[in-house]
Amino acid sequence: MIGRKRIIILVALLLLIVAVTGVLSLTAGRKKPAVSDIQMFSFNDQLQPVKKDDKYKTTYEIFVYSFCDSNGDGIGDINGIRSKLDYIQDLGFDQIWLTPVHPSPTYHKYDVCDYYDIDPVFGTLEDYELLLEECHERGISVLMDLVLNHTSVEHEWFKKASDYLHELPSDWEPDTSYCAYFDYYNFTKEQQNGFAPLEGTDWYYEAQFWSGMPDLNLNSSMVRNEIKKIVSFWFDKGVDGFRLDAVTSYHTGDPEGNVEFTSYFCGLCRSIKPDCYIVGEAWTDRSKIAALYSSGIDSLFNFPFSGNDGIIRNTIGESISPADFVHAMIVSDETFRANNSNYIDAPFYTNHDIARSAGYYAIDEGPQTKMAYALSLLMSGNSFMYYGEEIGMKGSGKDENKRAPMYWSDDPADPDICDGPPDMDDVMMKFPSLSEQMEDDLSLYNWFRQVIKVRNAFPVIARGRVVECPELCTDHLAVFYKECESEQKVLLIINLGPDEEVCDLSSLSKDIKLSAVLNTSKEFIEFSDNTVKMPSYSIAVITE
Ligand code: CA
Repeated sequence: MIGRKRIIILVALLLLIVAVTGVLSLTAGRKKPAVSDIQMFSFNDQLQPVKKDDKYKTTYEIFVYSFCDSNGDGIGDINGIRSKLDYIQDLGFDQIWLTPVHPSPTYHKYDVCDYYDIDPVFGTLEDYELLLEECHERGISVLMDLVLNHTSVEHEWFKKASDYLHELPSDWEPDTSYCAYFDYYNFTKEQQNGFAPLEGTDWYYEAQFWSGMPDLNLNSSMVRNEIKKIVSFWFDKGVDGFRLDAVTSYHTGDPEGNVEFTSYFCGLCRSIKPDCYIVGEAWTDRSKIAALYSSGIDSLFNFPFSGNDGIIRNTIGESISPADFVHAMIVSDETFRANNSNYIDAPFYTNHDIARSAGYYAIDEGPQTKMAYALSLLMSGNSFMYYGEEIGMKGSGKDENKRAPMYWSDDPADPDICDGPPDMDDVMMKFPSLSEQMEDDLSLYNWFRQVIKVRNAFPVIARGRVVECPELCTDHLAVFYKECESEQKVLLIINLGPDEEVCDLSSLSKDIKLSAVLNTSKEFIEFSDNTVKMPSYSIAVITE
């Protein structure tokens, strides 16, 4: 009997060991293979992010409605974002920009009803305060999207002004001592371009975007006092800065007026929070963006490099040569710097108003999508990336399609996945979901994670100025330095072509080394005798 008991115990122990080992190896297998045959994983292993206490960041743009749903109503919300901070941090982002979160009748919320609260579909003020706290614990800054060009027609200010004009006898002049809100907007009895009729009166109001968004009178001292209160309120909550919507529309057709208001706003913010960061949306050409930099604003989005007809896309499409791409970065820098020597460029490739980049290429299994966004992420300044681009989501045509739900997984029952904007078409994805891409070493997700890792490991990439090396550029190779006083310079070699390229660096210092690699294939970048062999669609970082 005893012998049999011992055998049973031994067999049970053996089964237990087999079971435990099996579970362990399964767990390990699910995480990631121990050794990848992709060069960048082992080669970049030693790279660490270098933290700097300045305004140069890598920023993730979140379209709040479509990012992550925490309470099952199909609408993205603040607590959903809080639940994804590990994900955002692990990708290497140290700043987030949330599209507007204030109460508003639309899904996009670019028409605000109350600047002091959070839209109930997104959560509560307490949720937002927790988000700020949790971001700051992780070293992630938070930019609030501030829409000052216009409010919603449902804002109390507009409703009170409208009520007053409805009651005012038609032959009386408005008196702001009876209704100050009349002065908050641009009312007139003369029909003009961009003005909408105030139904039931003989008045018109300026509404350059649409009749639901009346333009604020930003020259009004009362409006400016309101803005001061709003900005103070959010700085007091811990917001690190603002993304300013529609800067070129503040005073339609009056660029100098736009500079004046932007300058006023930046001065106001710095008087309350000296180290705040302000980035403005001026969807226009280089010279007009340059003119706005004279306002002293930290950053303006670099629109000429973005989108399907921008400099990056044209470089990938070979209508701009690699050498000309490098030169374009220098011209852009010199043009902006001339008007603000402290400016920080804000490069980006796509945003919530621009078709997603995975749809730009008819035939592309990933390399072109990868290389294009990498060019943007390796530009100097504060680089911005739109959510979902890290997995090559699709979305073009009407705006709603560009704001499709973050494709967390291919499980339709995944509670994090949002329903998306009400009038969105069915958006067919080209690349797998995030959960599938996480398991694939050659996925877009793993590529962008490595690109941002390289960006963060060499502070000169964000902070340096581009120095061109035209003699090293070829039809497919972009080669340039990033240099600044305080940081070690780097040489970036980018192969934008489908074939292997060899770059002879023997004209440079003898003591150079390959310090980081980015691969879109299993081919290795090889460095010997000051010559770099670059496989198709790959990036090398050389240091002294
Ligand atoms: Ca929700």
